[in-house]
Amino acid sequence: MSIQNKYLLSVLDGLKVRNAHEPEFLQAVTEVLESLEPVIDADPRYEKMNIIGRLVEPERVVMFRVPWTDDAGNVQVNRGYRVQFNSAIGPYKGGLRLHPTVNLSVIKFLGFEQIFKNSLTTLPMGGGKGGSDFDPKGKSDAEIMRFCQSFMTELFRHIGPDTDVPAGDIGVGGREIGFLFGQYKRLRNEWSGVLTGKGLTYGGSLARTQATGYGLCYFANAYLKANGQSFEGKKVVVSGSGNVAIYANQKATQLGGKVIAMSDSNGYIVDENGIDYKVIQVIKEQKRDRIKTYLNYVPTAKYVEGCSGIWSIPCDIALPCATQNEINGESAKMLIANGCIGVFEGANMPSTPEAITAYQEAGIFFGPAKAANAGGVATSGLEMSQNSERLSWSFEEVDNKLKGIMEGIYAACADAAEKYGMAGNIQAGANIAGFLKVADAMLAQGVC
Ligand code: NDP
Repeated sequence: MSIQNKYLLSVLDGLKVRNAHEPEFLQAVTEVLESLEPVIDADPRYEKMNIIGRLVEPERVVMFRVPWTDDAGNVQVNRGYRVQFNSAIGPYKGGLRLHPTVNLSVIKFLGFEQIFKNSLTTLPMGGGKGGSDFDPKGKSDAEIMRFCQSFMTELFRHIGPDTDVPAGDIGVGGREIGFLFGQYKRLRNEWSGVLTGKGLTYGGSLARTQATGYGLCYFANAYLKANGQSFEGKKVVVSGSGNVAIYANQKATQLGGKVIAMSDSNGYIVDENGIDYKVIQVIKEQKRDRIKTYLNYVPTAKYVEGCSGIWSIPCDIALPCATQNEINGESAKMLIANGCIGVFEGANMPSTPEAITAYQEAGIFFGPAKAANAGGVATSGLEMSQNSERLSWSFEEVDNKLKGIMEGIYAACADAAEKYGMAGNIQAGANIAGFLKVADAMLAQGVC
């Protein structure tokens, strides 16, 4: 799809000049603006008040030095980021990513996506994202703690329960959130719900750990059901083996699917009998080990070195849950040729533009990340509510709310797509539905 609207083109051209070295960010913005054309054409106020020009510029970007000492006594330095993208509908909200590939472009693309995702949840949360190029792999617990304490020693002055509430993402799970929370509390001398994904003993929400993976499957299930399909008897391939992937496996299996392959950044495993998520939990959550050790538990399974080959495995449903741009045009075509009926994104922006074009041309179901993986941040929103109320809800209560939110997101995307003449295009529907609430809040708040 190419943009015709002159206003949108001028914003995009300006953005490309100012951010020429940020390919992931430009990719994410282009994908959204392509869908917004009928909305901008239909309501001149968005152009008159330059809503798009303001939306693509973060409200604030913080970049900082993170010095820490490793176990050998050497002083190491990493770069930290927090991009506070948009606060029109609530405090900035979005995860922290610790991975060597983190740079400003990656954090900006994630922060931009987060604006629309958070809007889709219907909860009052603005968009933000942060992280560092620190690599947690192979680090001791003490090193992770020293890094997190140093990171928070700068970040604490920019965040707060009514300002900006970070959470986890790649490389940031319960252990890291604990260290970050402890340091924030110490520096501010206050206990507050400033982070989500906290442990259950100090303000965390039941079902937050499972939420993104479960939510992905609730969304996919609603989408499949609306089209006379279900997970029942379907072969499912899940990339990644982290937080999102593990609980996507569990829920897809509960819904009647069989997960036959999973991966990490080194390679993938294939087990035609179905991969038990509990084995992956032991390998990844307890032992922090590599996926190839699955063969120690299930010797009949197969391990293949290199992660991208996972998309050559014939399956009915693909759930990419690892990282951005993990499915390119070629992989998408392979999935389609092998009979895949739907791709539902657990990771953020896992499909390249060429992959998305291939899905659209083949007419398969496509659940875009900002809708399909919104369950994590939605449940973080529920954690914020519980912290404010000083109450803890039961697992069932949170899980039921999550399911309702994900079904609501599917319906909102389908309705928006239909209203703007693109019935069935859930990708466009997600962008439009997410945009409208934020844009209308920005209009109401004047030029700011
Ligand atoms: P984890 O760190 O728990 O797991 C990430 C998984 O993806 C690991 O298996 C990792 O393998 C693999 N992976 C990471 N980077 C790469 C890479 N460059 N190439 C291949 N594989 C890679 O992260 P999460 O499960 O939390 O996040 C996964 C995705 O889901 C991300 O895109 C994240 O932004 C998105 N997401 C997460 C949410 C959450 O609540 N956690 C919410 C919404 C979206 P290895 O161990 O080898 O690095």
